[in-house]
Amino acid sequence: MILDPNVQSLPLALPLIPDALGEDLPELVPVRMLNEFTYCPRLGYLEWVQGEWAENTDTLDGAFVHRNVDRQDKRPITAPAESPPPDEPLHARSLRLESQSLGLVAVVDIVEIEGAAATPVDYKRGKAPDLPEGAYDPERVQLCAQGLLLREAGYHCTEGVIWFAESRRRVIIPFDEPLIELTKKQLADFRLAAQAKRIPPPLVDSPKCPRCSLVGICLPDEVNLLRALQEEASAALQTPPARPAVRRLLPPRDDALPLYVVEQGARVGKSAGQITVERKAERLMEVPLNDVSQLCLFGNVQISTQALAELADRGVPICFFSTSGWFRAIVAGLSHNNIELRLRQFQTAHDPAARLRLARSFVAAKIRNCRTLLRRNGGEALAALVNALAEFARDAEKAPSLDVLMGVEGIAAKKYFEGFAQLLKEAMGFSFDQRNRRPPKDPVNALLSYLYAVLIKDLHVAVQAAGFDPMLGFLHHPRYGRPSLALDLAEEFRPLLADSTVLSLINTGEFKPDHVVCRAGAVALTPAGKKTVLGAWERRMEAEVQHPLFGYTISNRRVLAVQARLLARTLLGEWSTYPAYRTR
Ligand code: SF4
Repeated sequence: MILDPNVQSLPLALPLIPDALGEDLPELVPVRMLNEFTYCPRLGYLEWVQGEWAENTDTLDGAFVHRNVDRQDKRPITAPAESPPPDEPLHARSLRLESQSLGLVAVVDIVEIEGAAATPVDYKRGKAPDLPEGAYDPERVQLCAQGLLLREAGYHCTEGVIWFAESRRRVIIPFDEPLIELTKKQLADFRLAAQAKRIPPPLVDSPKCPRCSLVGICLPDEVNLLRALQEEASAALQTPPARPAVRRLLPPRDDALPLYVVEQGARVGKSAGQITVERKAERLMEVPLNDVSQLCLFGNVQISTQALAELADRGVPICFFSTSGWFRAIVAGLSHNNIELRLRQFQTAHDPAARLRLARSFVAAKIRNCRTLLRRNGGEALAALVNALAEFARDAEKAPSLDVLMGVEGIAAKKYFEGFAQLLKEAMGFSFDQRNRRPPKDPVNALLSYLYAVLIKDLHVAVQAAGFDPMLGFLHHPRYGRPSLALDLAEEFRPLLADSTVLSLINTGEFKPDHVVCRAGAVALTPAGKKTVLGAWERRMEAEVQHPLFGYTISNRRVLAVQARLLARTLLGEWSTYPAYRTR
């Protein structure tokens, strides 16, 4: 657990994000967002203010139910005062309404108009609930807001209709005074939350969360636990309050996986919902698009524009490596919407004290995880080194400057690699003296460099998905072309993921001396060596571990995604100390 009272924490009340953010919010609240805010204030904030979005089966199902009404009606709809009553009722589909005075905008599924009377009709997936009100508050508020917009447009509107697709039932919702009051109150509260630029807290142990599409972004139980731990640490309470339980609301692993193409001269294309890999006239592989989470291309591999565009549209990043494994570029769809987080990231990077506190957390966690690797694998023989690393971790937590911190990190790394060398089985034919790179001069360093590049690629993808700018870090200075934030987060994971994979590859004999070639003093992996290493890496990333803080089991790949989100929540002020990932 990382909320160590000895570690100075980021101040919770970080200076407010520049007012420009509030001014940049659209003046009109979309009625659909008002529904989300009524369901859960945090959900409304995440979607409208932070621009977060994620699909789940409910949202996809909802889009399917709306497929007919989403076809916009081309007939002009005017206010009743401006048009004579039509002879027959008019059904307008996907009608856009907005009002500056109400501060609302809506696209109404269907409006039934008869003379001066109008009735909004909203399509919902699912069954009609057995409630005296006819529907839950979020749906009633959404419909009532549409009714208020129709009234503003001059129509007589006293009720609305919800069409429940699964029950195939029309439920009439009267716009009575209590519902109008509730709708106006929700709208006012939503505006206040957005203007205050403070994300509402997550719901506590709510049955709504498991069905929420943003559960992996919001991390409700994880946030509640971290806030409770922080409260406990700062108040030094005699009787600490009960810690909230953490449910595993995230799936333990991703359904889709990265696709690596290391075959030189290969060409990646798209055909009938599949990613295809060909060389000359031979089809090497076909993978359904839905099964690909990243595409990683090594060296001389081409990709068609069609494949590139399709993957970008699906939010699947394409990572380019040199033949030797240097991570050189990433192509992704348009930038993440969460400008609030990026503003905070830049603000924090310009605050020397806040930067130092984060940098200390990364380095101290790295040293502690190095210590764990030596302790687990080295036994008594490395006890003195293990103790020394504990001391270095404490020094890192108290380092008065980034320069001192980097000095501690350098000495600790040297000591750690002395111990790491002793963990390699001599009989396997590999020796290791010290860390060297660019180019690596021995097979073990070549392996370490290759896996560090793949780790940084995975963290680059994770921080980008969380809404960060991967190039701006806190420990690593910004430098042209350097993904400094991915490098920062990599610190705590190098020993646990990359170094431990190297140990297992060598000590089990899976990686062999003929998996490398040496030219002009530089050692590089052969194509067979790369396939072996990438296979071992993917097994490590897919392996499930028990999260040391939250207790549930998830894959290592998910751990990286959760960690990037926790860093984001730290910067956004949800708690004060970055909870670095540390195993025991
Ligand atoms: S996961 Fe729960 S707390 Fe978080 S936004 Fe969704 S409903 Fe709200």
